[in-house]
Amino acid sequence: MTQSQGWASQSATTPLAPFRFSRRDPRENDVAVDIQFCGVCHSDIHFVRNEWGNAVYPVVPGHEIVGRVSAVGSAVSRFKPGDLVGVGVIIDSCRTCPSCRAGEEQYCDVGATLTYGVPDRYGDITQGGYSNNILVDQHFVHTVSDKLNAAGVAPLLCAGITTYSPLRHWQAGRNKKVGVVGLGGLGHMALKFAHAFGAHVVQFTTSEAKIDDAKRLGADEVVLSKDPEAMKKQTGSFDFILDTVSAPHDINPYLESLKRDATHAQVGLPDQPPVINMGHLLFRRRNLSGSIIGGMKETQEMLDYCAEKNITADVEVIPIQQINEAFERVVKADVKYRFVIDMASLERS
Ligand code: NAP
Ligand code: ZN
Ligand code: ZN
Repeated sequence: MTQSQGWASQSATTPLAPFRFSRRDPRENDVAVDIQFCGVCHSDIHFVRNEWGNAVYPVVPGHEIVGRVSAVGSAVSRFKPGDLVGVGVIIDSCRTCPSCRAGEEQYCDVGATLTYGVPDRYGDITQGGYSNNILVDQHFVHTVSDKLNAAGVAPLLCAGITTYSPLRHWQAGRNKKVGVVGLGGLGHMALKFAHAFGAHVVQFTTSEAKIDDAKRLGADEVVLSKDPEAMKKQTGSFDFILDTVSAPHDINPYLESLKRDATHAQVGLPDQPPVINMGHLLFRRRNLSGSIIGGMKETQEMLDYCAEKNITADVEVIPIQQINEAFERVVKADVKYRFVIDMASLERS
């Protein structure tokens, strides 16, 4: 067994606290990673607090992992000890269904294995990246460029690919008007990517204090979503809107803002369903869709794109001892724009 040290939650209402646990023995396709940084995704909070109703305890959250390879199994060909690598939201899938064969492992028909909080194919409950090490099959490990700041790369493993994939899928780019709803971890990456792809980007935010940042991050326009007049001016004008909001909110004004045949895609996953005025969909044949992370091939493509264009997340690096305070600040939309845990701090707990 591999001995691991992390921070875990024991129930929906208890704070995260130091936790020692064992990981399985390494297998021939495994890459053993010493974790350097792990991003703090709002999904970690939804899961730990059982807001989606699927939590298991104890849970070590964390699925935006960057670290160095410490050892590899005998069948591993793509990595060697010392390599800088990333691990994201999924660490296994069936590999044989049509989605897996198409490189869209996140849509595996059998259900992809999440990095934490689910049984893996051998029945062990997975534990995530708020810890010092992890073992992952090489197919689900990504190469990270040493050129980029490793702390800023960590959020690319979830917030990055979750926004890159739908923006590519719906061809956000030149001559397209693209909306990003919510300027948090996912939102600020969506803004950076849509801008880099050449789209005219409009950032919707509830936070007046984020307007200047939104412009700095690449927004051509910023709309305060609490202002009904400002929202009305957007009617029928968007080719694509990506909604990253974590809490229940009215999506009808965004549906009204779409052109004929245009799409509103959800990546945010609030714990309550929205109320939709079907008229907004019918009258201009608009589409309401969703998207979840991205496949392994596209995740590597995104990381390579970021290395080429020098794109990383804007991060606040914290020691693990500040994680419970960080959760509170994320819920209040008070982070610029992703907390990343420096795992060297684990030794102090
Ligand atoms: P985050 O950093 O907390 O950002 C969410 C943003 O939503 C906030 O910064 C805020 O932006 C806005 N917001 C918060 N409460 C709001 C409210 N009541 N009404 C309107 N806007 C509100 O969260 P995140 O880590 O980016 O994650 C966002 C969501 O995506 C979560 O639900 C998460 O579980 C989900 N997620 C999905 C995937 C996927 O694969 N689909 C992957 C990762 C995460 P402003 O201050 O600008 O208004
Ligand atoms: Zn995430
Ligand atoms: Zn599959």
